[in-house]
Amino acid sequence: MSDQRVYNFSAGPSMLPLSALERAGSEITNYRGSGMSVMEMSHRSKVFIQIFEETQEKLRRIMNVPQGYKILFLQTGASGQFSMIPLNLIGKTGKADYAVTGNFSNLAYKEAQKYGQIHLAASSEDRDHSYIPAQSQLKLDPEASYFYYCANNTIYGTEWQYVPDTGSVPLVCDMSSDILSMPVDVSKFGLIYAGAQKNMAPAGLTVVIIKEELAGHELPYTPLIMNYKTMIDKDSMYNTPPCWCIYMLGLTLDWVEENGGLAGMEKLKWQRANMLYDTLDNSKLFRCHGEKGSRSGMNVTFRTGSEELDAKFVSQAAQAGFVNLKGHRKTGGMRASIYNAMPVEGVEKLCDFIKAFDKAN
Ligand SMILES: *Cc1c(COP(=O)(O)O)cnc(C)c1O
Repeated sequence: MSDQRVYNFSAGPSMLPLSALERAGSEITNYRGSGMSVMEMSHRSKVFIQIFEETQEKLRRIMNVPQGYKILFLQTGASGQFSMIPLNLIGKTGKADYAVTGNFSNLAYKEAQKYGQIHLAASSEDRDHSYIPAQSQLKLDPEASYFYYCANNTIYGTEWQYVPDTGSVPLVCDMSSDILSMPVDVSKFGLIYAGAQKNMAPAGLTVVIIKEELAGHELPYTPLIMNYKTMIDKDSMYNTPPCWCIYMLGLTLDWVEENGGLAGMEKLKWQRANMLYDTLDNSKLFRCHGEKGSRSGMNVTFRTGSEELDAKFVSQAAQAGFVNLKGHRKTGGMRASIYNAMPVEGVEKLCDFIKAFDKAN
């Protein structure tokens, strides 16, 4: 093992800002004179409650979360929301619209079918999830209790470049892999959620931002722990919240603010992604999976067309210090996940490596 940090292109858990890791390291045995680690504190202690509230306030400020919305710190995993959303929200009309543009929205679509009448409002399966349907292609049901979509398709490498207009039907969005990568008008959404392990914190925390008026209409058999109303009433502390992850999220948010907030993140996002797409488009060997106009700024998926050459690329890249570039087992090929914490320099160096590989093979 090397004592050098590598450029880690993992899709999740993934890179965190170095300053956040260093801060956590310096505080790990004795958090600011408390005599203990954040890992060892009661979640009801004064010290931790302050961490909790400050983290909530920072997220509210950075994402400009309006009044009437509650920020929840849950343990469900992003996948837990696949059940929690229909359990809590479908009761209004018994129906919901789903756009399936990749792996995770497909899983959510299937899970929701247990709880009501689920309508496929759009699908990109016809072209192997290489694109995002246009607004005009969405088949909207005005009686849907909500419209569900996944903003960034982590495995296929596509990202919605617009927020769907669904009239008065509340928007529900999985932002696990692009939250904090750009400004978002939260007031357009009924519910936003994200697993923290892509762009926010270590695995174990799921952030939910919910318009409060949507809670309290859950199906009668909804487990207490999966009821948004329980979690709103108890301020996410019906049970022990993922304390360490919440603390780490606070440190990541400090870094986001020091680097220009979400406008700053958005600039860096497309600086990294455009550089990488340009390099791949101008190569002779590599083809991107995402179609132009639908490409993700967070997960860049590409391949050579030869599995052997793909494997050679992944292994030589790892030797050169660019790790975790192998694509998901569902898609094969390569995937470079370039979340907020990936330095621009890491992508510059990866582009140089790609150019050299392209020349040599
Ligand atoms: C990673 C990911 C998930 C699954 O997250 P878990 O926390 O492992 O359940 C869901 N949706 C998207 C978009 C993801 O990237």
